[in-house]
Amino acid sequence: MSNIAAAIITIGDELLIGQVIDTNSAWIAKELNKMGIDVLRRVAVGDNKEAILQTLDAELGTASLVIITGGLGPTADDITKPLLNEYFGGNMVVNERVLEHVKSLFAKRNRPFVERNMKQAEVPDTCSILFNKMGTAPGMWFEKNGKVVIALPGVPFEMVSIMEDEALPRIKQQFFSDAIIHRSIITAGEGESFIADKIQDIEEALPAHIKLAYLPGAGMVRLRLTGRGADAVALENELNQWQSLFADRLGKIVVATEDIPIEAAVKKWFIKNQLTLGLAESCTGGYISHLITQFPGASNFFKGCIVCYHPDVKEQILGVHHTTIEKFGVVSEETATEMARGAISALKADYGFGITGLLSTGGESDRVPVGTVWMAVANEQKVKTKVFHFTYDRLRNKEMAMSMALLMIWRFINGIE
Ligand code: ATP
Ligand code: MG
Repeated sequence: MSNIAAAIITIGDELLIGQVIDTNSAWIAKELNKMGIDVLRRVAVGDNKEAILQTLDAELGTASLVIITGGLGPTADDITKPLLNEYFGGNMVVNERVLEHVKSLFAKRNRPFVERNMKQAEVPDTCSILFNKMGTAPGMWFEKNGKVVIALPGVPFEMVSIMEDEALPRIKQQFFSDAIIHRSIITAGEGESFIADKIQDIEEALPAHIKLAYLPGAGMVRLRLTGRGADAVALENELNQWQSLFADRLGKIVVATEDIPIEAAVKKWFIKNQLTLGLAESCTGGYISHLITQFPGASNFFKGCIVCYHPDVKEQILGVHHTTIEKFGVVSEETATEMARGAISALKADYGFGITGLLSTGGESDRVPVGTVWMAVANEQKVKTKVFHFTYDRLRNKEMAMSMALLMIWRFINGIE
């Protein structure tokens, strides 16, 4: 589709010693990939002038777009800005808009604005500014011989905000005359190969300007259609038709036809049906609730969660019978069921979900094998239970349990067995 090549350079000693994991370049790569830009290399370099210059030269040799993150701050170890100023042969000048912004940020935070902070508003006169509404260090856009170099702050949320608001739209404008449109289909419960088999003939019939990507996650696969064309309206119609074709064929495993996580699909269903949900989380310790409350307006359907780690709490607050725990164990189908029902009554919710499991050794390991997790989801009329046997370490088991829980809730509300 395209042969625009990009490279990403992340700067900072902390990246080289493993103190900070470079999430910036992964995020940027994903965004560029969505646009159809090939990322040739992702390089991490220390706070070292020669090393940075060498890397920049090398990458500009093959890539027409180089994105750099890190080292834009006002401290001595932040050398990216003066280095780029030198590289592009300019002078440092105070940018009035940035200065105003930096001053207002200091005022908002009740911090005195000292001379040193002036430096944050200084930028090379050879670049244009990518405004940073989240922080003080602006992003910078340089051009040389038709190639673009973008420098962004290392702080991930500042980098993301500048990319989304300023850099990505401009990259699109600079490198593509065509419109690029995406459509997603989120599926759950079946693997990639099952899906590929099922949609093979449709996939093969796709025209060259529409590509299909499989993006698998825990228990789910996201399908992304990317189309490119001169006429945005026509392209949109075309993509909608292909999306329906795929979604119809995949039928019940389709969770959503927009790019939303499963917790958002769950929220949407509850809001639409004006029903409420309550959770009783043992082994996940509130993790599922955390995900559900990521979006504003969760209180419109989410009643709350009882983190019932100790058996006493399961009994006293959720009304799980002492005899149930004694007879079947704390990690059992019966306990999970009573937890789900207990969540309904204790939280006055329409739907209840209970989860209890043994994620690693050191718990009630004599009754169930490590990795056993029982889940139950219920409403007034019915209950559905499921057991999982996870085989990873504690944290990964917890993440798997969380994903499967959301999926189970989603399937239950949508009447999928
Ligand atoms: P500041 O103005 O805050 O100093 P900066 O552009 O100088 O921003 P750095 O000092 O390099 O950025 O990094 C700021 C913060 O962002 C640090 O906490 C660092 O650990 C984190 N960070 C830097 N680079 C990355 C990266 N590639 N991935 C994830 N986090 C990063
Ligand atoms: Mg810094």
